[in-house]
Amino acid sequence: MRKPLIGISCNYEQDLKRFSVSEGYVRMIEAAGGRPLLLPVYSDMEDLHEMLSLVDGVLLGGGTDIDPQAYGETDRGKCGPIVPVRDRQEIEIVRYLTGHTDKPLFCICRGAQILNVAAGGTLCQDLESEGPYWNHARSNYPGHVPCHTVQVKKGSLLEKITGTPRLGVNSLHHQGMRKAGKNLKVAACSQDGVIEAVEMDGKAFVLGVQWHPEKMTDSPEQRLLFEAFIEAAKSGR
Ligand code: MN
Repeated sequence: MRKPLIGISCNYEQDLKRFSVSEGYVRMIEAAGGRPLLLPVYSDMEDLHEMLSLVDGVLLGGGTDIDPQAYGETDRGKCGPIVPVRDRQEIEIVRYLTGHTDKPLFCICRGAQILNVAAGGTLCQDLESEGPYWNHARSNYPGHVPCHTVQVKKGSLLEKITGTPRLGVNSLHHQGMRKAGKNLKVAACSQDGVIEAVEMDGKAFVLGVQWHPEKMTDSPEQRLLFEAFIEAAKSGR
């Protein structure tokens, strides 16, 4: 059986006309038995749909802040660079995959926020200033080192995969999920109450995590997330 083909959304620096992706996503997918394929932002949505029919699953990775207009707000001055064309494409990826297929979708950091927004949820534009949240933008820690814990919900897919009620995670986000979208269940929260994981009801594997499991290469639980993703991609064909 051929290895599952996993589409990975790219960062898009529109001003520099450059697509890029963090190596960690590629390596973790390879290690879990998948074959990574980078997805640029297409000019034509028809091309995107064609690509989505070819892959066995999609990973939406980290990146820039999402245009607040996508969840019915305006930028209150705390957002970083915004790339609306990438937002639009990734929201379409979520809607197409969850609406028309049972292919797995693994959404990391910004990806989890995209999943939430695509499902009608909202974001907190800046956790620190809209608090009371401890600093979740812990770029002073090495990426593979946990800097806070999350409480995993009993009976969630996340608990089933990791087999633990508490996970140590890294934290490289200044925004966060505020209200969970329709059909999304909160699967984990940080101690200070930030939603750290969501999953979609009735789907084999549609999971969003606010931390970066691809950087935590020496954590067995984080590797299990990628293994479960690739397993779902095999059985979702
Ligand atoms: Mn966090």
